Amino acid sequence: MSASRRQQLEEGLAAVRARIDAAAQAAGREPAGLTLVVVTKTFPASDVRLLHGLGVREVGESRDQEASAKAAELADLIPPDGLDGLRWHFVGRLQSNKARSVAGYAHVVHSLDRPSLVAPLGRGAREAGRELACFVQVSLDDDPGRGGVPGTGLDALADAVAAEEGLRLVGAMAVAPQGADPDSAFARLRGLADRLRERHPGADRVSAGMSGDLEAAVRHGATHLRVGSAVLGNRPHPG
Ligand SMILES: *Cc1c(COP(=O)(O)O)cnc(C)c1O
Repeated sequence: MSASRRQQLEEGLAAVRARIDAAAQAAGREPAGLTLVVVTKTFPASDVRLLHGLGVREVGESRDQEASAKAAELADLIPPDGLDGLRWHFVGRLQSNKARSVAGYAHVVHSLDRPSLVAPLGRGAREAGRELACFVQVSLDDDPGRGGVPGTGLDALADAVAAEEGLRLVGAMAVAPQGADPDSAFARLRGLADRLRERHPGADRVSAGMSGDLEAAVRHGATHLRVGSAVLGNRPHPG
């Protein structure tokens, strides 16, 4: 069974990489400037291990309980020197009381969307003895239900992240609103990301694009693509 699962994942990965390459070419961008984060939420740790065997190093999760268990189970995929090891990206809604835990295993957080997360993430990162790369998640429709800081709160949140020891502000992230045209959503994200980079020149990355809209994200400057179902298949239950 695991041989055929490996083959499924290999085919899913190849298909997604081909889409990314084609989108990069169409946009006149270098594929090397695009990082694929394979979102493994709801799928078992055994799938993550197979993906690692296929060369995947960046994996995304959206729930602390699930992610921390997988990270513990797969600790052997991170060598003691840290080189070429698995890197965990936390992409989901983040609860304040989980932030410190997430900082214990995550290398990158994409969903930092309010000031109350800054102190617990920073504390967790310092306790873990490392620097946590953080994207500030912005809202593209100002709907608080979808997560993301409204445009009016972006500067203050970014300043707080940049000032927190243990955190490194790396860029802006967004999820296209349901039913929205992804091109106009990601164009809006690009504007906000440009504003962020003017204020914080090191924060030059853009996390955008999922299975259904990665081409539009590449057209609008995404550097990090968070892709789940197009690699792993449909999720057994919503993540
Ligand atoms: C689940 C999830 C993804 C991946 O979604 P797919 O449609 O399966 O590619 C990307 N980003 C976030 C924030 C997610 O929660």
